[in-house]
Amino acid sequence: MNLSRISIAGGGIGGLSAALALQHFGYRVAVFEQASELREVGAGVIITPNAMHALNFLGVGERIANEAGPGEALATRHFQTGEILKLRAAGTDYAERYGATYHQVHRVDLHTALASAVRRNDPDCVFLGHRFEALTQDSEKVAARFANGKIYTSDILIGCDGNASKVRESVFGEETVNYTGQVAFRALLPMASVPPSIQERPFAMFVGANRYFLHYPLRRRTVMNLIGVGREPRWQEEGWRIPAPVEEFENLYNDLYPPALQLIRAISPGTLFKWGLRDREPLRQYSKGRVTMLGDAAHPMTPFLGQGACIAIEDAMVLGRAFDAANRIEEALLMYENTRKERANGVQLASRRQADEIQGVTTKGANPGKDALERGLYSYNPVTVPLAGGIQFDPE
Ligand SMILES: Cc1cc2nc3c(=O)[nH]c(=O)nc-3n(C[C@H](O)[C@H](O)[C@H](O)COP(=O)(O)OP(=O)(O)OC[C@H]3O[C@@H](n4cnc5c(N)ncnc54)[C@H](O)[C@@H]3O)c2cc1C
Repeated sequence: MNLSRISIAGGGIGGLSAALALQHFGYRVAVFEQASELREVGAGVIITPNAMHALNFLGVGERIANEAGPGEALATRHFQTGEILKLRAAGTDYAERYGATYHQVHRVDLHTALASAVRRNDPDCVFLGHRFEALTQDSEKVAARFANGKIYTSDILIGCDGNASKVRESVFGEETVNYTGQVAFRALLPMASVPPSIQERPFAMFVGANRYFLHYPLRRRTVMNLIGVGREPRWQEEGWRIPAPVEEFENLYNDLYPPALQLIRAISPGTLFKWGLRDREPLRQYSKGRVTMLGDAAHPMTPFLGQGACIAIEDAMVLGRAFDAANRIEEALLMYENTRKERANGVQLASRRQADEIQGVTTKGANPGKDALERGLYSYNPVTVPLAGGIQFDPE
């Protein structure tokens, strides 16, 4: 297709992956990011084989894997006693099963690898300090207006502006948002502050009634990433950068297996963040006219499957392939949506269900559907998955 430019609102993991995939297939993109610099929150993200396929294809997988180190085996442990209930294979074993590895990655490293690759392709394609506000479209173009007063016109606009997407609101209107009654905490610790017994099993999830606590190492075991998710009936804000006092985390988790509780106690003041988990219904359609949605903007999901970033990367890969395969914009957008919607909305709903599964598991053998669910998640390959038809026939 002969397009002059594709605009992307949001320069997070989804937006940059989409930019890279479209550039790979020869398209010119412009990424509009609201922040004054391209940055990510200091936290971990687990990149599973389904997303690694795309990162490898786009030429950034090796860098990300090298910086992260091999994916660790996961121990599921009893919340209070620390007993190991289950062991899952390490990331390298996944290469045999799924054709790609998995890794525990520092979000900053993933984001930086994507941003460098995008800018290497086109040094001037990222526009910082551009907060998307509104759009208008007709049969030939879409015009996006930004908070700084600028207006940019392009052939297509892709909304990659996260959970509370303004592009989604502009296209589909306001929606109902439910607070899940759960709050998440995150922090990073230098490995020197981690008790040796925890370092021996560096990737573990402590599961208890109504709570879980997860830790895994980043950057070749030099940093430990901590996440806790528990019930908190009072309303909590959604942002990922809300500072929290360490005592709040400690008080909610004071019956945690003592060596793991030491991790929480070792968090330096000012380095703990929390956010309230909100839930939204899946979108019935991703695209309208010349605008489509990708990543959390298309399918905002709770974190209980740890798949939000991976599904955004899958979206990006399929979007690029659809633009490569189609002859017209409408066809490309339909092909993208038809290939992705069932999968991504399905993961969004499965993630919601997983909250109760994870937080109810305290005994051996519980959560039996998890292995099948993981196989379904990890065996998807966005580089080779057949593209669903993109031609819509008018009903007679
Ligand atoms: C602590 C934590 C741990 C997680 N762990 C995992 C994990 O292990 N595995 C996994 O797959 N997923 C994980 N996730 C989820 C995953 O990070 C998200 O699903 C993923 O970041 C979605 O990417 P995105 O680009 O769609 O949205 P975002 O990452 O939210 O990026 C949106 C971007 O758009 C920008 N933006 C927002 N509004 C505007 C606007 N109006 N105009 C212009 N720009 C705008 C933002 O500044 C941001 O740069 C985790 C999330 C968190 C917070």
